[in-house]
Amino acid sequence: NVSAPAATTLSQDKLLGGLLSAAFDESSCQSRYKSSLYRKPSPFPLSPYLVKKLRKYEARHKKCGPGTKSYRKAIEQLQAGRNVDNSECKYVVWFPCNGLGNRMLTITSTFLYALLSGRVMLVNVHQEQEGLFCEPFPGTSWVLPAGFPEGNPGKLHFDAPESYVNMLKNGVIRGDTPAAALPPYVYLHVEQSRLRLSDNIFCDDDQATLGKFTWMILKSDSYFAPALFLTPMYEKELSRMFPQRESTFHHLGRYLFHPTNKVWGIVQRYYEAYLARADEKIGFQIRIFPEKPVKFENMYDQLTRCIREQRLLPELGEPTAANATADGKVKAVLIASLYPGYYDKIRGLYYENPTKTGEVVAVYQPSHEEKQEYTSNQHNQKALAEIYLLSYCDKIAMSAWSTFGYVAYGFAGVKPWILIRPDWDKEVSQIACVRSTSVEPCLHSPPILGCRAKRDVDVATVKPYIRHCEDVGFGLKIF
Ligand code: GDP
Repeated sequence: NVSAPAATTLSQDKLLGGLLSAAFDESSCQSRYKSSLYRKPSPFPLSPYLVKKLRKYEARHKKCGPGTKSYRKAIEQLQAGRNVDNSECKYVVWFPCNGLGNRMLTITSTFLYALLSGRVMLVNVHQEQEGLFCEPFPGTSWVLPAGFPEGNPGKLHFDAPESYVNMLKNGVIRGDTPAAALPPYVYLHVEQSRLRLSDNIFCDDDQATLGKFTWMILKSDSYFAPALFLTPMYEKELSRMFPQRESTFHHLGRYLFHPTNKVWGIVQRYYEAYLARADEKIGFQIRIFPEKPVKFENMYDQLTRCIREQRLLPELGEPTAANATADGKVKAVLIASLYPGYYDKIRGLYYENPTKTGEVVAVYQPSHEEKQEYTSNQHNQKALAEIYLLSYCDKIAMSAWSTFGYVAYGFAGVKPWILIRPDWDKEVSQIACVRSTSVEPCLHSPPILGCRAKRDVDVATVKPYIRHCEDVGFGLKIF
């Protein structure tokens, strides 16, 4: 049968070489199969070990997930205020914090943590996040069922008595406390505090103690995957899962996140209307942060400097006779920003002027929401659609510090140009943009390492696969 091999290749391609499970019904979540068709193939080979690990995880999630006997038993024990020795099913429950980009990065980090520590990850989906993502694990759900007895958001902060570090400090637990004598759950507060990750838990001793808890509640605002790479006991496993460490978010993000058919409709309509026929797609993401506002003129000037210096778009000017039509080549520029001004000006440039190469530059911006609305579901649908649209670009230039941009280039597997943030006391940045050295997101707040020794070590100087980020000098990035 001549057609058989082709068919196999096709389905393998659809499943991204085995990254995705074959056990789903295609129509329930079209983006799972169609999204990657809008991109070039992944530049990072997938390790068969990671594929095996994911299939094993899926089996565990199905066995322990919501609606199962194991889940009911674990909830009963939690309600009874008991931790259980040798529980077969252990859980990590993710709680949301900040915007969509942050959430996608922390879900990915939490999932990586679940893979490494043999837990099942459940996500606490608030209304603003409802209906954004398809279920990633077949035959089960990753949504934390209603009625979960713990995790009152008001209690999840760094001085919560249930936090691991505080329980240690207050003598509630010790490294040698037997599992059956531990409290019913542990809270991990993995948030940025004074530019460091607040809980120093990425050490072997701590991981051994944490491993004894059936229930773990985790809240984070940071891409803490690099901290897992710095935990000695996980190092070997991680190198088998990710022979190219730089592909960690790229693979896990593409495995976990699939917009629902509703959001996919937005993405697909926009892509087919404006981007599908372009010869090259260039994405600009402009994010202005309230803690460091940059004036419109300064940001626009920086963006155009970056475009010029890095030759991201054709120069303006009269084309030579030979270039006059450039064979009808079209460059599409996709702008993601809360504001319409950058689009207006860039579109105006290419509307009013020809390009020296004769190429046509078409400029698009799907929305300009003006304000960030963490709690609006519709707003988040658009934000998610734009993250995906950006991730189909061949080149991306993005604002420093933005997790929204990190997710987009991470999915794309494309090293972005980062528009450097001006120093705190300056209005403009001398350097317009620099090329990132990695497709990994940046961890803005490194953990204090050195564990029990309480030494503070600059890991970027000791680990060959971690360096400081281009946009956040003290941040850490896998490469
Ligand atoms: P970060 O703050 O840049 O790290 O990214 P987050 O995604 O965590 O939070 C920013 C939020 O603001 C997004 O989730 C959106 O809700 C909104 N937002 C910021 N920039 C854009 C944009 O270009 N388009 C849309 N639609 N929303 C945006």
